[in-house]
Amino acid sequence: MPTFGFLIDNRKCIGCHACTVACKSEHQVPIGVDRTWVKYIEKGEFPNNRRLFSVMRCNHCEFAPCVTICPVTALYRRDDGIVDFNSDRCIGCKACMQACPYDALYIDPDSHTAAKCNFCTHRLETGLEPSCVVVCPEQAIVCGDLDDPLSKLSQLIKRHPVQVRKPEKGTKPKLFYIDGDEASLVPSRTRADDDSMWSRRDLAKSDGSPSGEWSSSARKSQAVATAEPRDSVQSPPLYPTANSNPSAAPDHRHSAPEPRRVYDVRARAPAWGWPVVAYTWTKSIAAGSVLAVAAARLVGGEKQSSAIATVMGLVGLVFLLITTALLVVDLKKPERFLYVLLRPQWKSWLVRGAYFLVAYSIVVTVWLGLLLLGATRLADLLLWPAAALAIPTAVYTAFLFAQAKGRDLWQNPLLSIHLLVHALLAGGSLWLMAAGAMDGVDRAMPRIFTTVILWLSLATVAGEVLTTHATVDARRAMAMIVGRPLGAWFWGGGVVLGHLIPGALLMSGAEYAILAPLMILAGIFAVERCWVLAPQRIALS
Ligand code: SF4
Repeated sequence: MPTFGFLIDNRKCIGCHACTVACKSEHQVPIGVDRTWVKYIEKGEFPNNRRLFSVMRCNHCEFAPCVTICPVTALYRRDDGIVDFNSDRCIGCKACMQACPYDALYIDPDSHTAAKCNFCTHRLETGLEPSCVVVCPEQAIVCGDLDDPLSKLSQLIKRHPVQVRKPEKGTKPKLFYIDGDEASLVPSRTRADDDSMWSRRDLAKSDGSPSGEWSSSARKSQAVATAEPRDSVQSPPLYPTANSNPSAAPDHRHSAPEPRRVYDVRARAPAWGWPVVAYTWTKSIAAGSVLAVAAARLVGGEKQSSAIATVMGLVGLVFLLITTALLVVDLKKPERFLYVLLRPQWKSWLVRGAYFLVAYSIVVTVWLGLLLLGATRLADLLLWPAAALAIPTAVYTAFLFAQAKGRDLWQNPLLSIHLLVHALLAGGSLWLMAAGAMDGVDRAMPRIFTTVILWLSLATVAGEVLTTHATVDARRAMAMIVGRPLGAWFWGGGVVLGHLIPGALLMSGAEYAILAPLMILAGIFAVERCWVLAPQRIALS
């Protein structure tokens, strides 16, 4: 069995886009998305400038993170090394888009399923080469068997130094470049030029896209892509965007001879938007409610914790239902949501998480039923398995995010602690509110519990901000959280409203401390919003 790979010979590529067009035609790829495209980089200043071309596409990785994260085996690696996809199985969860470090996947606007370069498998199977290889007038694209030492591909790789994109990701790409320039292959090495062809496409005509749906989100993401800091937190913070005031914007074209991305595909809007932000928040409440009941049982009297348990259990169950609904709503193929349970790919944390959610829902429902029926002894027994299941329910998202190899900030191991602490904090807030609303219930214990967890939460967030981030992209994402464009959410919502003010209220012991839990819950939402959105604003190609 051969092992197929691609090689792009940049000494020959003339940037003619024939490969892009041939691919579009071969696969009927809709306007606005691409399976392969050509990126232009310019280096130097006129008259000593150069233009470099790079053909971008799926790398058919040996260790493909898109395959690992896909919950339903819609993406899979064939025996011949090609990473292919099956639209009939895809649920449109977009996890593969987060996992791919190379921006190779998109959601097809017609089928609402994920798609990418599949090496033209239908052509290979009839003895033909992929359409991009056939159409290239310079023979700059070579495909072949990497295991055959006599193949043209193997010979070129043997005779010339070759580069791959992001080797540090450990994906072992099978797309090689001869003369692959670092400025072309590493997205953080270049800024997007505000005068590049696609940078003005939205603004020239508000619905230059086939559907108006693109325009506003794409414009926003393009603005962010051009506004983000480039190399490190210390980099110059802003580049002029297409809609900025030209007289106010510094003219980098004359002062900065660094490489510029002058022609590229449109920057993508975050694949996981408000439903995923909301889901992390509602899941904290759903898991935290039972964890707080368990804490109340450990430290409080029998009478107190039984009374509170029913209220908190009910709230937890409602938020569990909302969490599930948000997960389904975010799918591009919501009618296929049961595939996650019925056609599971067990390496995916999306599947493992779904099963944790189901198991937790069942145990909490039975536990709550027993409480409502007055069978408190049996309910007490069931509380502990429910609390044990609440922990993976709260934390599994950190493991799912860690499988998203394209998002460097999500690789931080502190994220699982962050999510557990947020669940405990949300549970403590519910406990405070329930105790405040009931007569004859001790309010000191929930106040102490929530205060301790609140400061622990602040310490966790501070640890995540201050820790040394290993990669440029992680540092850039964190710079967006503490600076522009998410700083107001982080400092105003997450730190001041969510921690400092409620912390002061709780420690003062004032009666109006009932406001504190509401502020804490708002703060959790603000922090989760920053953590979900910032890494998705980093360009991957
Ligand atoms: Fe292709 Fe990206 Fe999957 Fe690698 S991770 S096989 S580049 S889609």
